[in-house]
Amino acid sequence: MVIDKEKLKKSVKLFLEAIGEDPDREGLKDTPERIVRLWEEFKSHETFNMTIFEDIGEYSEMVVVKDIQFYSLCEHHLLPFFGKAHIAYIPEKKICGLSKLVRVVNKFAYRPQVQERLTSEIAEFLQEELNPKGVAVVLEAEHLCMSMRGVKNPTSYTVTSKLLGAFMDNEKTRNEFLNLINNGK
Ligand code: ZN
Repeated sequence: MVIDKEKLKKSVKLFLEAIGEDPDREGLKDTPERIVRLWEEFKSHETFNMTIFEDIGEYSEMVVVKDIQFYSLCEHHLLPFFGKAHIAYIPEKKICGLSKLVRVVNKFAYRPQVQERLTSEIAEFLQEELNPKGVAVVLEAEHLCMSMRGVKNPTSYTVTSKLLGAFMDNEKTRNEFLNLINNGK
């Protein structure tokens, strides 16, 4: 999906007017254009090459990448929520480059989202691409729509998880993952 730049510019200008600002004043006059560039950058995360290695021999240990910093936008208020993603999978003949896990998070994060759906989308995408024995995704995030409005203590985090395959069926595997991501906290 390509951004409709003119429509976006007009709507940002209207939004500024609606909240009582003068969109032509010095600090705001380039804001619609800046927001267009920002969203073009956000959208650029949607497509990337998922490099997959298929010749991994007998390797079937859990692959864990923790503390992946991510930024997303809550779709209810269009304010950021951000935090850490922890991802694990147990390969079945296929693995991907570790940096690709970061790209997968960003693919689904840079759009209006809810944390629960972001968590599932990452897990299901990896399940589909790698067809592993299991996938686990845990996200911990602060939501500015809550912190800024004082609904919630700003130091509290929302935690969501999606467990597929072996992480769902096997308690030992699940605990191993949870111990790994909680280690050092
Ligand atoms: Zn919100």
